[in-house]
Amino acid sequence: MRPRSRPRRFIPSRCSLDGGQLPALTGAPLRLSYRTPLLVRRGALVARGGKEVHAASFLRRRLIVLDSGLRRHPQEWRRILVHELFHFAWLRLGNPARASWRALLAREFAARARGELGWSAEWRKARLTPADPARSTPRWRDYVCEAFCDTAAWLYAGLARHEEFTLSHCWRKPRRRWFIQQFGDRAIPL
Ligand SMILES: [Zn+2]
Repeated sequence: MRPRSRPRRFIPSRCSLDGGQLPALTGAPLRLSYRTPLLVRRGALVARGGKEVHAASFLRRRLIVLDSGLRRHPQEWRRILVHELFHFAWLRLGNPARASWRALLAREFAARARGELGWSAEWRKARLTPADPARSTPRWRDYVCEAFCDTAAWLYAGLARHEEFTLSHCWRKPRRRWFIQQFGDRAIPL
């Protein structure tokens, strides 16, 4: 369970990332802490017996917990932190914007676009069938949210390439355009 630093509080509007291109953010303070190993079971941190993950976000508690090992890998730390920050953005996005993102991914999926912009979305996508978007199943909604967070990490973490950026370039453009149109220069609420 070591090292287990005390959570550090930070204010989204003052958040910047060395090496990243984080857009303006807004919202109440969040806390960031570290643990290793980071074990999660049924949405809660556990001392043993859970699934080992790199990161976990607790939306109501406004807490992000990262695996301590990420501190030695600044690029990966940025990518995973941006992904987690955008879980908070997804929560505040509002239904019309969420529906529009879902529709974008449904078009991609119907066109059999391969690859993703992170493993988190990719393994979920691999389990989907055409019935999932059609019925808006929990599996589909889970994928849609993870693809949103992975796309944000691809856009804002300052990584030109990464082995998990496998979505073909022609499908990356509409995703980038969606983020630009959706947020423009407005601060993104977390
Ligand atoms: Zn996620």
